Amino acid sequence: MHENILLVEDEAALRTTLSDRLRGEGYVVDTAVDGHEAFEKAANMPFDLVILDLMLPVRSGLDVCRGIRQAGMATPILILTARDQTIDKVVGLKLGADDYVTKPFAAEELIARIEALLRRVPIQTGQGVHEFGSIHVDVKRSEVTRDGKPVYLTAREFQLLRYFIERAGSTIPRKELLQSVWGYEADTLTRTVDTHVASLRRKLEENPKRPELFLTVAGVGYKFVGHSPQLESR
Ligand code: CA
Repeated sequence: MHENILLVEDEAALRTTLSDRLRGEGYVVDTAVDGHEAFEKAANMPFDLVILDLMLPVRSGLDVCRGIRQAGMATPILILTARDQTIDKVVGLKLGADDYVTKPFAAEELIARIEALLRRVPIQTGQGVHEFGSIHVDVKRSEVTRDGKPVYLTAREFQLLRYFIERAGSTIPRKELLQSVWGYEADTLTRTVDTHVASLRRKLEENPKRPELFLTVAGVGYKFVGHSPQLESR
């Protein structure tokens, strides 16, 4: 526990209230008051989650969100939007934010969203660095590169990738992926798994139409077959 959260909010009263509440829930909270400070902190310190207000001085929250993803970091991002900012919410999700909460919100709602995003895949094989082909995955830093260039993955895609890596060579049923990575129970949502695997293929396979890393096991689920020698453990 004691996950680190970066809270980016320029309104002092809300920043203080939320910080206190999150600390009360057991989180370690750091804050930023504008977009510049937000990006500097998010890019240089290992946060488990970023709560990002969109209307910020200096640099907008959308710009910060884009910057974090372009840097190849998969840290979960929860954006805070105003009621009249529907467009920004949609743009934010497209830029790689993982979820949003609309102001004004109840603290309980925010905390529930945070818990859902932080629901971690249990780590069984350490948090090291993995390499397969031109893909390099640093689990601890939540960073993925391909041919040395950052690959932008959403937090959920990264969790899914990590789950695959930890179980390389095993066939994993869709239902297990859904339960372990998303925390869902419903069978009807397995399509969600398919779309995320398709997205990983698009971003990581040489030829997404002829996958060599993320294989379909007909009628069951998927198997990850990337060679994944552990370069360093821990
Ligand atoms: Ca604001």
